[in-house]
Amino acid sequence: MDLLVRGGTLVTCDAADRVLEGDLLVRDRRIVAMGDGAAAAARPPCRVLDARGAAVIPGFVQAHVHLVQVLFRGMADDLPLLQWLRERIWPLEAAHDEKSLRASAELGLLELVRGGTTSILDMGTTHGHEVVLDAIDASGLRARSGKAMMDLGEGVPTRLLETTRDSLREAAAHAKAYRENPRVRVAFAPRFVLSCSEALVRETAAMAAELQLLVHTHAAEHAEERDAVIRLLGDTDVKVLARWGVSGPRAVLAHGVQLDEAEAREVAAAGTRVVHCPSANLKLGSGIAQVHALRRAGVVVGLGADGAPCNNNLDAFAEMRHMALLAKVRSGTSTLPAREALRVATIEGAKVLGIDDQVGSLELGKEADLAVVDLGAPHAEPGGDVFGRLVYACKSSDVRHVVVAGELLLRDREPTRFHVDEVLARARKEARRAAARAGIEAGPLFR
Ligand SMILES: [Zn+2]
Repeated sequence: MDLLVRGGTLVTCDAADRVLEGDLLVRDRRIVAMGDGAAAAARPPCRVLDARGAAVIPGFVQAHVHLVQVLFRGMADDLPLLQWLRERIWPLEAAHDEKSLRASAELGLLELVRGGTTSILDMGTTHGHEVVLDAIDASGLRARSGKAMMDLGEGVPTRLLETTRDSLREAAAHAKAYRENPRVRVAFAPRFVLSCSEALVRETAAMAAELQLLVHTHAAEHAEERDAVIRLLGDTDVKVLARWGVSGPRAVLAHGVQLDEAEAREVAAAGTRVVHCPSANLKLGSGIAQVHALRRAGVVVGLGADGAPCNNNLDAFAEMRHMALLAKVRSGTSTLPAREALRVATIEGAKVLGIDDQVGSLELGKEADLAVVDLGAPHAEPGGDVFGRLVYACKSSDVRHVVVAGELLLRDREPTRFHVDEVLARARKEARRAAARAGIEAGPLFR
């Protein structure tokens, strides 16, 4: 059945950055008409989505998230990166079982879809990632996701460590299982240089090149971590990763806070992607990435919320606003205007995932991944152009409808594939159980 998105302001994020008034028609997953004539082209019976008073935007692409950490929201506040990892996140991840993994992924996916995010690049944990891939597939969202690969590292719980061979074998099996999936594919995820052997990274990069899949890792996040890498390997993590084969358009580095100018030029020349995670970088005290300078150097930069325990939301609006505001502090008030910030959160993110030929903008023939965002709430009225309203004033609670691959996943703020109360009940129960297994105080709200 055709889906007609009626009467909105179409913010296309296409190459000309056009804004159109009118309707948008979806047929067989794809956008087939926009603006004048779209309504007339609809075949009855047709489903109609009301977009009056709202912007119709490409769905947000969050290019760095951890669904498996959503369950640990609020359990690791106010700690610096390496301590945050070693004392909380790794023990909690090690305590996951199938039920807690599914509960974590579902809660994250529900939050994402309610906030207008339609595509993610996700990093899992070492074991049980089949459950996460299955939950993503069932959610209707579009994703690239992979188990965290870790075959060494100081302070890593034994349960999170695996042999190089097992890590590669399991990741390859996941890639094979999702090879033909229209929405969900694997992105290999060696966690970061300090948790991976050279052999693991090199073989993962070779496998990714052969299968034409992404390699997704963390790099240049925190100064302390950077120093540790230099002490251990004699060079920065970005340089070591490039030497081991992780560079180029299919390599995605989350963070890039510590990149200097020379490295930025190298990253740009190689085509390596960088994902900015402003809230997580602030909360873990990692610093402020030079997003304006990176983009000016030619680096493709995407945006992501990272994990719930270091944010504490998976909210694309909050990330977009933080990114734009921080750029002004870093590089001047006129840098990264709202129009560009929206592009980073949509079409640029799609480039990071290598899916910009399918999604990331509203264009004829592209898959219909979109969000309808109310522009008329008291916190967004009365002034400003549509870009300023979306980036500086709107909130995730303004998202009215969400469509992925032509399927309605959120209608009038109600998710179509999730039962909100059940997801929340399972999350509370499994969070309490996982924290108990990890021996970590979960906090009074869990009791
Ligand atoms: Zn991360």
